[in-house]
Amino acid sequence: MAMNREHHRHSKRVTATKRWQVLRHLILERDGWACVDCGQTRGRLEIDHIQPVRNRPDLAFDPANCATRCSPCHTRKTRIECGHPSPIQTPERDAWAQAVADLATNTQPAKG
Ligand SMILES: [Zn+2]
Repeated sequence: MAMNREHHRHSKRVTATKRWQVLRHLILERDGWACVDCGQTRGRLEIDHIQPVRNRPDLAFDPANCATRCSPCHTRKTRIECGHPSPIQTPERDAWAQAVADLATNTQPAKG
């Protein structure tokens, strides 16, 4: 989908750098190699930009703007962002996105 390609085009300029590879490892260590949303430690872990690179390129290498997320949580967050194309991030929107993410987590049926 077009919006997703746009997202990756922006983050690629960051993630293709040596600097990012070093920072990525620092973030993984900081977060204990676990998804900050669901605590998943197995599977594919990705580094998510809390403020998307396309909105805040100045925060691309700021550890405070990075969080470890598993692939499903990262995809879900990206999809929420892409569903709201406004380039302006506000605390209200962040809170809303978090509330939606929490809701999605909480409504999943418990297994085992
Ligand atoms: Zn997760």
